[in-house]
Amino acid sequence: MESKSLFKRHLDHSPFLISGPCSAETPEQLLKIATDLTNNVKLDVLRAGIWKPRTRPNSFEGIGEDALKWLLETKKELSLNTTVEVANSKHVELALKHEVDILWIGARSTVNPFSVQEIADALKGVDIPVMIKNPINPDLQLWIGAIERIEQAGIKEIAAIHRGFSAYGISNYRNKPMWEIPIELKRIYRDLPILCDPSHIGGNRDLIQPISQKALDLTFDGLMIESHHDPDHAWSDAQQQITPFVLKSILNDLVIRSSKIHNDEVLLKFQELRLKIDSLDESILERIGQRMDLIESLGEIKREKQIPILQVERWNSIVNSYNEIGADLKLSEKFISEFLNAIHTESIRKQTIVMNR
Ligand code: PEP
Ligand code: MN
Repeated sequence: MESKSLFKRHLDHSPFLISGPCSAETPEQLLKIATDLTNNVKLDVLRAGIWKPRTRPNSFEGIGEDALKWLLETKKELSLNTTVEVANSKHVELALKHEVDILWIGARSTVNPFSVQEIADALKGVDIPVMIKNPINPDLQLWIGAIERIEQAGIKEIAAIHRGFSAYGISNYRNKPMWEIPIELKRIYRDLPILCDPSHIGGNRDLIQPISQKALDLTFDGLMIESHHDPDHAWSDAQQQITPFVLKSILNDLVIRSSKIHNDEVLLKFQELRLKIDSLDESILERIGQRMDLIESLGEIKREKQIPILQVERWNSIVNSYNEIGADLKLSEKFISEFLNAIHTESIRKQTIVMNR
């Protein structure tokens, strides 16, 4: 059954779309962007940052309450739904007073259970949808914790927003997507709509299209994309904002693939391949189980003969030889290394239990 959630994809499978400036700057800026958006794309919700959490002090930290008034005027003038980021109870109170339709919790707040709880307490008894961005660090439990706090406040309509994860060092992304984390969230919360924010993942205009396509292919329900009529002169996040016209062309180029299979022949082929894959997965796991049994026997001998668990040379030779086999099988070195590491970690865990028996 198709969920009736506000955030679901449209019937033509186009994504639920939230767009607007990183920050509200002036009433004219807000109205101009909102007008260009409504004239060019199928906009579901207008976003605008009112209070901006900036990494360093002395940069533009948002207009505050005045901007909420402009947002309300724009909403009324163009009959739009609006969303803003709230980071404390005062923000919630002001956003509600100014008829904001949806609230979102930013990455820097999700990371802090005190902040999330303060927002949740301010939301008790209020009927408003809330979107929860992932925490800046790749911690799924923290993301789930924030969702639970908002759920426990009685909020019915909740969505998650994937905006990538902060990592030290140089990367193509401003925030690494680490898609496996939102996918795991999707597996745990089957009905939770998940939107993607390619602007903060990419941190640059050129990455918005490929990240959005990837999100749709991974069956995300919607996109939150920052837009500005004059991106180069935006007061925050200038490098990643695009004009509503560029947004229109990006959306037009997105390939919408439906996860529902209508054709019987395709469906049969899918079933056949999936059965084979399932049976292979099963035998891979059985083999790994058998490997672990051998590992335990080896552990018994190590314990008896007082041999340490870790044998670095042996492990090195395993890694080297499997890299060659992996290359022949066209498996990436990264995959081979992660796969072997996972097996090695489990083997060491098993042998440690044997050693301590
Ligand atoms: C934003 O959406 O402008 C924002 C501050 O995002 P995040 O919380 O993802 O950094
Ligand atoms: Mn931003």
